[in-house]
Amino acid sequence: MSGPRPKTCDACGRGIAPSAVYYRFTLVLEGEQDVLDPSGGGSAGEDLAALLKQLEEGPESPQELEDQVHWERSGVVCSACRSMVVRTLAAPPEPARPH
Ligand SMILES: [Zn+2]
Repeated sequence: MSGPRPKTCDACGRGIAPSAVYYRFTLVLEGEQDVLDPSGGGSAGEDLAALLKQLEEGPESPQELEDQVHWERSGVVCSACRSMVVRTLAAPPEPARPH
């Protein structure tokens, strides 16, 4: 065995040829909330504070709740997926408005 291990795109799952350009990424999604919803009272479980409270109280699926507060992935993507990600994040669709 010699040479680099074959890589797989973490987005589309296709193999990345050793000679192909690929892109390393680290994505961190942190749950944040600027204003608590005054009407909800946290009953929907969507307030960050409520999530954290559930987490402390020993929920049935701590990992799932934890992912809502802090989700982190890293890996590599192929050039096609890179284009898609860059398009998605760099140019969010603008609300229609007159120029
Ligand atoms: Zn891909």
